[in-house]
Amino acid sequence: MKFRFLSGLLLLLPISAGALEIFACEPEWGSLARELAGDDASITVATTAFQDPHRLEAKPSLIAAIRNADLLICTGADLEVGWLPLLLRRSGNALVRPGQPGYFLAADFVRKLELPDRLDRAEGDIHPQGNPHVHLNPHNIERIAKALAERLAQIDPARSADYQSMQSDFLIRWESATTDWESAAVNLAGLRLVSHHRGFTYLADWLHLDIVADIEPKPGIPPSASHLAGLVEQLAPNPPAAIIRTPYTDAKASLWLSDKLGVPALELPYTVGGGDDTNDLFRLYDKTLKLLGDLPK
Ligand SMILES: [Zn+2]
Repeated sequence: MKFRFLSGLLLLLPISAGALEIFACEPEWGSLARELAGDDASITVATTAFQDPHRLEAKPSLIAAIRNADLLICTGADLEVGWLPLLLRRSGNALVRPGQPGYFLAADFVRKLELPDRLDRAEGDIHPQGNPHVHLNPHNIERIAKALAERLAQIDPARSADYQSMQSDFLIRWESATTDWESAAVNLAGLRLVSHHRGFTYLADWLHLDIVADIEPKPGIPPSASHLAGLVEQLAPNPPAAIIRTPYTDAKASLWLSDKLGVPALELPYTVGGGDDTNDLFRLYDKTLKLLGDLPK
């Protein structure tokens, strides 16, 4: 009798210590969560590389995913301010509310670039807390990974040893890959680019790329015809190597400017899943560096 009771308990254990439910706002955090929480975690990713993470429809499936989540991993720095608060309110899940251990914002753990001198949201700037696109510098990923591993152990202490070992394993591979990327990209320093949106600021900062102009006059503001004409005038005497954009950006303005300047328009994957061979963070960086390295010099 006693034995049967005990075996019943053992059978229940894997369920009571059940798989962690994680809600990630963007694919890069879904991929990092997979590295650090392991194959057992159930991970829902709200957006794809082909969706603008600044703007998202609050679909019932996303509300349901947040309702069941033990941990929410988003970028923060106001990237999701247009949709995440609404999803959180509708989900009614107290575990992942701001201030709770289940609410994790990646941008809180890195130094943010392009912090505005004054709040200028009235003019449409969608980066009022500084540039939120922090994931394209591998040193940021490293800092965020350490903070996230700590958070996983905090919300699921029974598996803290597992989280510790997954973190060590990830960091060894990540630091070695970072060294390889940095040596492969040495001759990208000084590469002059025009970017549609300021989605590549941290990549440029890391590799010393020179983003000489943005197609958007301000982050989130579409270019007018006169702004585009001004760019042609400004850039024609010394054209950039390429015009870069994310998979979710409308290509029209990039292609127009590319045609006027006679330089390539290049869609970079931007995040995990944003192109062939980009199904995790490692491949995202491999592919991004390859595409930049293949540009005609
Ligand atoms: Zn942005």
